[in-house]
Amino acid sequence: MTDTLGSELADQGIFRALLDAAPDPTVVVDAHGRIVFANLQVERILGYAPRELVGEAIEVLVPERYRGSHVGHRSRFIGDPRVRPMGSGLQLYCLKRDGSEIPIEISLSPVTTGGRKLVSASIRDISERKTREDEMRRIQGHLLSAVESIQGAFAIFDRDDRLVLCNSTYRAMWSAGIPGEITGRSYEELLRARIASGLFDTSVHTQGELEKLFVAYHDDPQGDLNLRMTDGRSMRCFARRTAEGGLVKTILDVTDDVEREEQLRRARAEAEAASSAKSEFLSSMSHELRTPLNAILGFAQLLHRDKKSPLSDRHRERIEHVLKGGEHLLRLIDDILDLSRIEAGRVTVSVEPVDVAEVLNEVQTTLAALATRADVSVRIAQLPDDLTPVIADRTRFKQILMNYGSNAIKYGRVRGRVTFRAEMVESMLRITVDDDGIGIPSDKQDRIFSPFHRAGQESGSIEGTGIGLAISKRLAEIMGGHVGFTSEQGKGSSFWIELMAHRVRASARPAQQQPRVATSALGDSGKSFSIIYVEDNPSNVAFMTDLIGDYDNVELVTAPTAEIGIELIRMRKPDVVIMDINLPGMSGFDAVKRLQEWPETQAIPVIALSAAAMVRDATRIKDAGFYRYLTKPVKVDELSGVLDELLAARAK
Ligand code: ADP
Repeated sequence: MTDTLGSELADQGIFRALLDAAPDPTVVVDAHGRIVFANLQVERILGYAPRELVGEAIEVLVPERYRGSHVGHRSRFIGDPRVRPMGSGLQLYCLKRDGSEIPIEISLSPVTTGGRKLVSASIRDISERKTREDEMRRIQGHLLSAVESIQGAFAIFDRDDRLVLCNSTYRAMWSAGIPGEITGRSYEELLRARIASGLFDTSVHTQGELEKLFVAYHDDPQGDLNLRMTDGRSMRCFARRTAEGGLVKTILDVTDDVEREEQLRRARAEAEAASSAKSEFLSSMSHELRTPLNAILGFAQLLHRDKKSPLSDRHRERIEHVLKGGEHLLRLIDDILDLSRIEAGRVTVSVEPVDVAEVLNEVQTTLAALATRADVSVRIAQLPDDLTPVIADRTRFKQILMNYGSNAIKYGRVRGRVTFRAEMVESMLRITVDDDGIGIPSDKQDRIFSPFHRAGQESGSIEGTGIGLAISKRLAEIMGGHVGFTSEQGKGSSFWIELMAHRVRASARPAQQQPRVATSALGDSGKSFSIIYVEDNPSNVAFMTDLIGDYDNVELVTAPTAEIGIELIRMRKPDVVIMDINLPGMSGFDAVKRLQEWPETQAIPVIALSAAAMVRDATRIKDAGFYRYLTKPVKVDELSGVLDELLAARAK
C-alpha cells in the first residue's frame, strides 16, 4: 500500500523534482505517521538515504524523549491540517541517523493526493543560527553585566534619541516621575519628566534653562556637564556620540570630589591670604623698625666719636654694645625685608653672563676680616679649565656666596678651613663651599632652606636669623638655578649652588656693551606665569618690564642675546617667549628654529617682535615657528591682547 503510494508520487515527476530542489530536508508523511517520501536533502543533513526513511514512522526522526507526545501532536494535525510552522516558541530537535541531534524548525503543509491526506514537513537545520544566537546572548550578557558594573549611571541612546540600554543606577536615578519601562522612550520625554519631578537644584538655572542646557549638551556633547541636585549632590555627566550617531552617557556622583575641591580651594585662598598678610606685615614692620633704629644707631655713633666731650672708656664700651646690637638688628630687618619682597614676588633681578673667578675673589676678600677674627682660612680651589661664566645677577650671586661663606666661617671651627670650588655639572656650573666645622645633625637637615629655621642654633651662641639660606634658595631659583647641601654633624658641611653655564660660541658672541637682563618676579611665584623676553635694547627691556608690571603673577625674565635666551628658556620652560628678531649674534629666527628642535621647548608659544615688517604671510610665520609676529613700534593693546590670550589658555 505504502509502496504503491510512493510510486504513485514518484510518478509525479514535477512534484518530486520540486521537493528535491528544496534547500531543506523534506519528508511527506501519511495519516498514520509513515514516511512516504523523503527528498535528497535528508541525506545531506540527516545522514539517511531517502529510500531508508520511506516506510518508517516519522518518530524515527524525533528524539526518544519527545516521541510519546509526538504521536498525539501529529494525529491532531491530521485531524485539522493547515499550513503552519510547528512548535513556535518551542525548541525542536531532530534525531540524525548517527544518533546526534540538531536544532530545527519545521513547516507543516497538508497535501491531498489521490484522495489521501498527507503532510509535508520541511525540516530546517538551525544549528548555525542557534550557535550565533547563543553567542549573541553570551555577548549581550557580558555587555549587560559590564554596563551594570559601571560606577555611576550609564545609558545608550540610538540615533533617534531613544533610550536603548541603561543600567539600574540610571534607572533609579532618572525614572522618577515616569511610569513603566523607560527603555524605548525618547530623550526629551525622559528629560521633561525628570526636570518636572524636581530632581535638579533650580537656584542657579530655572527649569526652562536647565532643559535648554541639557538638550544643547545632548545635541552637541562637548566636555562635561556639571549638575547640582536638589538633595545637594553634585553630578558630572559625560556624553559621547557613537559611530552610528547614537549617544553614550555616563553620569557620576562627584559630590565628594566637588566638596574636596571646594575645601582645597578655600584652604589655598586662606593660605595665600595669610601668606600675603604675613609678607605685608613683615614688610611694613621692617620699614617701621628702620626709622627708630636709624636714630639709635645714628646717635650711638655720634656719642662714640664725640671729640668735644669724649666718653669714658666704660661708656664707650657700653655704646659699642649698643652699636653692635643695633647693627645686628639692622641686618635682621634688611634680611626680613629682602625675604618678604622675594616671597611676595616683588623682586627684580638682572641676570647676565658673570665671571665666576672674579666674583669668588671678591667674596674671599670681603670675608677676610670675618675669617681672621674666627681664625679660619678661606681659600679658592684650583678652578677647572672649562670654567664658563654663569648666567646670574652679579650682586645676588655674590650675596648667595657671601651667605654660604659667612656661614662656613660662623659654623666652622677654630683654625678650620673653608674652600670655594667650582665644577661643571652637565650644562650647569656648581659652586660649592666646603667647611670642616660643626655640621648639621641629620634630623635637623630637612627644613634648612625654610625661613627662620636655624637647625638647633636658636639656643646656641652663634648669632643668626635663619633667613640667609631661604633667600639664597629663592634667588637661585629665580635665576634658573638651584641649591643643595650635604652635612655631617661634627665633620663639616658643603653648601652648593648650581647656575646655568653660559657657553658662548665664537660666532655668537654678544655685543660689546651688554645690557643686563632684568628679571622681575611679580605676584605669587608659586603659581605665576613666566615670560622670557629676548631683547638687546635697554629701552625696550624697560618698556616690557613696565608693561608686564601691570600683570599679576607674571614673572618676566629678559635676556640680551638669543644664546642666553635659549639657555634660559630650556631651563625655565616659560609659558610664553617674546623674541626680538634682530639680535647680536644669533637672530630671533634662528633661535626659534633651535627651540623647535627640542621637545621641551617645541610647544612654548613665541611672539616675534621686529622692526622690519618682513613676514606678513601667516603661513610663513607659522612655518617659522612663531605664534604671532608683531612689528615695532609695539602697539600695547595688540601685544597685551596676545598675552592675555596665551596666558588665559595656559591658566586652563
Ligand atoms: P643663620 O646662619 O642666620 O642662622 P641661615 O639661613 O644662613 O641662617 O642658616 C640656617 C641654619 O643652617 C643655621 O642656623 C645653621 O644651623 C645651619 N647652617 C647653615 N650653614 C651651615 C654650615 N656651614 N655649617 C653648619 N650649619 C650651617
